[in-house]
Amino acid sequence: MNSTDRKARSVTILGATGSIGQSSLKLVDAAPDQFNVEVLSAQNNVAQLAELARKHAASIAVIGDPAKKDTLSAMLADTNTTVLAGTDGLQEAARFPTDVVIAGIVGAAGLAPTLAAVERGAIVGLANKECLVCAGDLFMTAVNRHGTTLLPVDSEHNAIYQVFDFNAPESVSKITLTASGGPFRSASLVDLERVTPERAVKHPNWSMGPKISVDSATLMNKGLEVIEAWHLFPVEKEQIDVIIHPQSVIHSMVSYVDGSVLAQLGSPDMKTPISYALNWPSRMDSGVTTLDLAGIARLDFEEPDENRFPALKMARQALQTGGGAPTILNAANEVAVEFFLNGALAFLDIPKLVESVLSNISIEPLESLDHVMEVDAKARVEATQRASRRN
Ligand code: NAD
Ligand code: MG
Repeated sequence: MNSTDRKARSVTILGATGSIGQSSLKLVDAAPDQFNVEVLSAQNNVAQLAELARKHAASIAVIGDPAKKDTLSAMLADTNTTVLAGTDGLQEAARFPTDVVIAGIVGAAGLAPTLAAVERGAIVGLANKECLVCAGDLFMTAVNRHGTTLLPVDSEHNAIYQVFDFNAPESVSKITLTASGGPFRSASLVDLERVTPERAVKHPNWSMGPKISVDSATLMNKGLEVIEAWHLFPVEKEQIDVIIHPQSVIHSMVSYVDGSVLAQLGSPDMKTPISYALNWPSRMDSGVTTLDLAGIARLDFEEPDENRFPALKMARQALQTGGGAPTILNAANEVAVEFFLNGALAFLDIPKLVESVLSNISIEPLESLDHVMEVDAKARVEATQRASRRN
């Protein structure tokens, strides 16, 4: 089916003011007769959210910070947009019946609303990897129970999704996630001691929000992605490999038992995987620059250095341990990154803080969503106390 042959799709964009949200809106804006934006969310930026809601004549606009609800209501008073706020408002908004939900909230805060979208069986384009890191088993159980179409938007997982033979998973020998290596790929440990937030958020290939940019610089992002991949694809933990590929042209690969390696390539632009989710199962013109391999001329690969970037090993260990370990890893990392971005924690102390939180909270199996949130909250308290003590 051609994208132009179907009726317009209704769309929910959770995290509309962020990097993923903005790329999603660019795609929608370029094909106005194919998509109707019905639900938009943002955490703080009321003015931008109001403007977007007005532009798209959205049914719902939801602001994460409840203190800003009145301001948003006043800004949209002359429209038909319903204004919601806070975590309950986000979940209610996610339940509004649209065809596609782009889950572009950053962090574990995205879990409850994304799960609400999963539970109504929407097509969910998942950028919010923290959902799968902090509650992967529960999340995937919900996906299977509700017959939800879960489409990975994270570029590596989207690449694997496109080339993975789900009909014959036993024919897969391994999957390989590529990593750019971030802005400090070649930096020495001495250089890493002096990394500032300004330098850490400047990613060489991708333009992204601050949290994932820092995660890319520590390689925690790749660690989170190993956990994400394990939940998304029917492979063993040992079958998930990581390789540094600085050009970010090969977005990831699947190796088969016959020696074939299938990969997805493209210019590093999130509009490709987002468009895949928005228009699934057919492709649409994303406006992304055509890949110019002759211009790029060479592709490099190297092993990740776990000595300078211990976060990757730590995430693998948390996946092996299972239960609440990945939840704790994720929550402690979110706190550590926030402290780092505020200039209150050194770059090399990010993985150290995560490690100390992991080794000081007892790890139990996760029973329910409430239990996940409890473990997440406990890890945040522990991480905050430890980070504050370091200053
Ligand atoms: P961002 O910081 O640019 O945007 C985050 C969005 O979430 C904003 O709209 C913000 O208002 C909202 N938000 C923040 N905190 C919130 C909270 N507590 N409750 C509700 N909403 C909140 O982040 P981003 O780079 O767009 O990343 C979003 C997600 O997508 C992350 O999980 C990230 O790992 C993933 N992802 C991003 C990229 C990318 O290129 N940006 C690539 C792959 C995966
Ligand atoms: Mg990625």
